[in-house]
Amino acid sequence: MSAMTNLYDLSLEALRELVQSWGFPAYRGKQIHEWLYKHKVIAFEQMTSLPVALREKLAAEAKIGNMEQVAEQHSSDGQTVKRLFRLPDNQLIESVLMEYDDGRRTACISTQAGCAMGCVFCATGQMGFARHLTTGEIVEQALHFARQLEREGDRLSNVVLMGMGEPLHNYDHTLEAMHALNDPTGLNIGQRHITVSTVGLVPQIRRFADEDNEFKLAISLHAASDEERSALLPINKRFPIREVIDAARYYVEKTGRRMTFEWALIRGENDTVEQAQKLGKLLQGLLCHVNLIPLNPTGGYDGSPSDPARVQAFQETLDSYGVANTVRVRRGIDIQAGCGQLKTEVLKRKGTHETATA
Ligand code: SAH
Ligand code: SF4
Repeated sequence: MSAMTNLYDLSLEALRELVQSWGFPAYRGKQIHEWLYKHKVIAFEQMTSLPVALREKLAAEAKIGNMEQVAEQHSSDGQTVKRLFRLPDNQLIESVLMEYDDGRRTACISTQAGCAMGCVFCATGQMGFARHLTTGEIVEQALHFARQLEREGDRLSNVVLMGMGEPLHNYDHTLEAMHALNDPTGLNIGQRHITVSTVGLVPQIRRFADEDNEFKLAISLHAASDEERSALLPINKRFPIREVIDAARYYVEKTGRRMTFEWALIRGENDTVEQAQKLGKLLQGLLCHVNLIPLNPTGGYDGSPSDPARVQAFQETLDSYGVANTVRVRRGIDIQAGCGQLKTEVLKRKGTHETATA
């Protein structure tokens, strides 16, 4: 089988080795790297500093990226765009770009096709796991938005690995992709502007804490007692709250960095003052911040978002424990921007493929 090499899967070193194996000098690998990540070209003809023979060899053996856009939705306020991409094996993945008034341009990208963790309220969890994304497939999503923003005279400033999938289940590709996004000779996104979110895989959180970098960490908590958390996040049976918090504490002590906990507020489920008190006690004294996100309803789960009075009472309770928190309205709720929702929607309209518009 002669599968084409996806150049985004290759590090700078691997690009150098590839061109050398074809009889070209190593510096040609560096030039290709620049064309890919600095100039963000999408065709070999655009790599004008390369000899024609190398461009032809590349066209015969390699390809620039794996993604084909199959659907796109814009939020009514125009500040969020969500895209659905098809991969060569027909897997579908979603990526979202959020534009904020303060100038931040944040890409929310996927790390897996589907997810094995089965969180009950999550559209991706409801699909089950298909496969890990390659490093290149993770990077390409951010590159896609960066290219678009540059055309508009703008720049991608932040990346959150909070799309489809559990990033720390695909640990090596996720970390390689984060380093590629950070690479100063490429996309050059600061490490503190790249956040990885995990459902709470304890060994991987500890491993992440031991890495020498400044990437940011978020943990999805969603409940403060094991009984309730296990009912929402099945992985809690394997890694219960106590172990997750111990790992979080290890991360904060090891890195000195503040971390984030995510909490989807579900009406009548995890939005009571008792839950807020439990959470307050759990997190008191830990260098952290809680993001409260009213649930984004999904087809496979009949919970609904908390009403504003409950949200406020929850916040005030956390405040009384000195636990920093913010309520985040989920961006692009009118375009199914909760992870996995556009794919679910498109598959429902069986057989219809929206065409690419970008
Ligand atoms: N797998 C990782 C990252 C992807 S999910 C994780 O679980 O952390 C990103 C965030 O969206 C998580 O906090 C997840 O719990 C949350 N989420 C998933 N479905 C949601 C929904 N329907 N409403 C609100 N938040 C949701
Ligand atoms: Fe997977 Fe995160 Fe969804 Fe849970 S919330 S199923 S870990 S993507």
